[in-house]
Amino acid sequence: MPEPSSAPVHVTVTGAAGQVAYATLFRIAAGEMLGPDTPVVLRLLEVEPAMDALEGVAMELQDGAFPLLADVVTTSSAETAFEGTSWALLLGASPRTAGMERGDLLTANAGLFAPQGRAIAAGAAADVRVLVVGNPCNTNCLIAASHAPDVPRDRWFAMTRLDENRAKAQLAHRAGVSVAQVTNTAIWGNHSATQYPDAAHALIGGRPAPEVIADDAWLDGEFVSVVQQRGAAIVAARGKSSAGSAASGVIDSVRSIAEGTPEGDWTSLGVISGGEYGVPEGLVFSYPVESDGRGWKVAEGLKHDAAAQRRLDATIEELVKEREGVADLLK
Ligand code: NDP
Repeated sequence: MPEPSSAPVHVTVTGAAGQVAYATLFRIAAGEMLGPDTPVVLRLLEVEPAMDALEGVAMELQDGAFPLLADVVTTSSAETAFEGTSWALLLGASPRTAGMERGDLLTANAGLFAPQGRAIAAGAAADVRVLVVGNPCNTNCLIAASHAPDVPRDRWFAMTRLDENRAKAQLAHRAGVSVAQVTNTAIWGNHSATQYPDAAHALIGGRPAPEVIADDAWLDGEFVSVVQQRGAAIVAARGKSSAGSAASGVIDSVRSIAEGTPEGDWTSLGVISGGEYGVPEGLVFSYPVESDGRGWKVAEGLKHDAAAQRRLDATIEELVKEREGVADLLK
């Protein structure tokens, strides 16, 4: 294999000893995220009690003998982790413990994401892009971004691509076609049970999904609930979170942002809303996003019927409440 020629790109992963990170890091090191010609330096952040486990992960990365892996930095300092980074993948988050209300969870995470936002602003590379996976990812992203006002607003993303992939797979399965036939599947709103997986605009083999599937009851009922509840179903079956498919969502999200989305298609991403589709400005809201690899825009001109609008209103309302719950923690 020829020696990679370009300078390594620094990629930060937080929660790097966690399950999702374990399923993501080896794929990054193998070049699946930034391509076969881009060497990477992995900058791995963990909390102090997880540092021993993180050293084990670093040893395994070394043992993979990945030609593209230029270096691995392990640290419990956010400043060190984000120094010079071009991709900040924020996987670590404080888990919800028994008896914890959603508000408590938001506050606990604000304590993590505010300093991480400040460290990104202080030390990241000029081209940094940030993908928040740790939940509640939309509002965690909002908090981090609010503490990094000098980092442009279009660099902040929250992950809803796994939800999109789940929706796409359900549509393909129902229609009896390959997932490659399914395009234009959008997830709107919060990465939570209020999200709106939109089959109305999806295409199967270039034809509207509702026409191909011809079962509105399934599209409005089981399809939506399967996508919304899929994470819980996997935990029930596996006893662990859906870390493998979440890792795929991370890789797919970065590739869509960096390489662009196919002509006429889009990817779902939580982004800082500019008010598109009646969403209050500044909320981190998942939209269908078209990227050309240099920049992105929210897909325009999509129409929602009354039922879809009710779903959008519900997820907007939840995100507004989340934002109100952390108002004191935003800058
Ligand atoms: P996971 O790696 O399984 O999950 C990490 C985050 O990803 C959680 O918020 C989780 O949300 C979310 N997530 C998991 N699966 C999915 C999915 N399918 N779709 C979308 N989001 C998903 O958790 P672990 O407990 O294994 O690892 C977390 C790590 O983070 C720990 O090692 C901990 O030490 C670390 N941590 C690091 C911090 C730091 O680097 N500063 C700060 C805080 C924690 P959900 O809870 O909803 O599953």
